[in-house]
Amino acid sequence: MTEAKKYGFTTTILHSDRQKSIEHGSLHKPIHTSVAFGYKDARQLASVFQGKESGYRYGRQGNPTVSALEDKITGMEGGLSTICFATGMAAIGAVVQGLLRAGDHVVSSAFLFGNTNSLWQTVGAQGVSVSMVDATDVANVEAALTEATRLVFVETIANPRTQVADMQRIGDLCRARGILFIVDNTMTSPYLFQPKRVGAGLVVNSLTKSIGGHGNALGGALTDTGEYDWTRYPHIAANYRRNPAPQWGMTQIRAKGLRDFGASLGPEAAHKIAVGAETMALRQQRECTTALALAQMLEADPHVAAVHYPGLASHPQHALATELFRSYGSLLSFELRPEVDCFDYLNRLQLAIPASNLGDTRTLVIPVAHTIFYEMGAERRAAMGIAESLIRVSVGLEDTADLVEDFRQAMPD
Ligand SMILES: *Cc1c(COP(=O)(O)O)cnc(C)c1O
Repeated sequence: MTEAKKYGFTTTILHSDRQKSIEHGSLHKPIHTSVAFGYKDARQLASVFQGKESGYRYGRQGNPTVSALEDKITGMEGGLSTICFATGMAAIGAVVQGLLRAGDHVVSSAFLFGNTNSLWQTVGAQGVSVSMVDATDVANVEAALTEATRLVFVETIANPRTQVADMQRIGDLCRARGILFIVDNTMTSPYLFQPKRVGAGLVVNSLTKSIGGHGNALGGALTDTGEYDWTRYPHIAANYRRNPAPQWGMTQIRAKGLRDFGASLGPEAAHKIAVGAETMALRQQRECTTALALAQMLEADPHVAAVHYPGLASHPQHALATELFRSYGSLLSFELRPEVDCFDYLNRLQLAIPASNLGDTRTLVIPVAHTIFYEMGAERRAAMGIAESLIRVSVGLEDTADLVEDFRQAMPD
């Protein structure tokens, strides 16, 4: 594989390890379990620690198996560099630890993964103020900006109600104001969408979901796309300004997020995620096809009050999703009519499994208000558009006809 030739998404992932030195001819990146790394002599060790020579210091800040995965994700996102973390939440947490200080302000989409919503409440108690806005319209984001706004945070397709953020316009706004734009790409994955295209400076991916794709490893990643000018960010420590400016943000985040807080990805998990990533495009193609077929069947069923899936013409941001994404994703949610008990319905499903995860090979379903959004209470749920009967579906790899039939047969006669 030569540097000059541009290959397709899967070809690039499959052959990315072989761009670097090949250990013992291994076709797959080995799992390096060593926590510490020794060098030729004590002087070289010192030189690695001082950053004068490249090399690994201690497993918390870097590991060869994890680095290989970081390079793969950088390639998928078309970015400059990536840092992996133990989970997706650790990746978002590292942004907070690395970049925000008391007195700062964040503008976030109000339509968010529940735990990210909870994180914004946590930082709110630590002196960072957060405005939660309807990011399907850039005007709401613009109205919330203040002098202290350091970053704008949105999800591509919001989990679980599938609202699509107006990302091109938000990206343009952030660029004009010198504000860091962060996109959580978990729901689309870099196969369906590259946030770099709309000017996002940092991209979050939960590797636990579509990228790993088999429900067998937790992981998270933060990718610098190269779109943000770090010389405009006020809190980069003098220490990290010694490197070229495009590296400032990630150097500080790696130091604060990994070295100081330690939510590092282990090499075994990195290996599972890297193997899973090789089939991501194939899996997503099947899942998107099935998700659309399922959404269409549900929309036509008289027991269903509403279906939320960006691939349906009835979705409020269908046109926006069509413009932005290669396809509409593997996540959908729907509301049953009041006469159908959502627990009874879920219990009649034969294939879809009640569980909290996304992007597994198996189709998973969860009654959102009673589980993942339970703690926040009815009032906040209502504000986020979460109906009490809302069922979230993460579409897996089952044959399309089998899965659609499973959701149909579970309806009352
Ligand atoms: C799951 C998820 C996360 C968090 O990822 P974990 O790996 O579970 O910590 C963040 N954002 C979105 C949109 C998610 O779905």
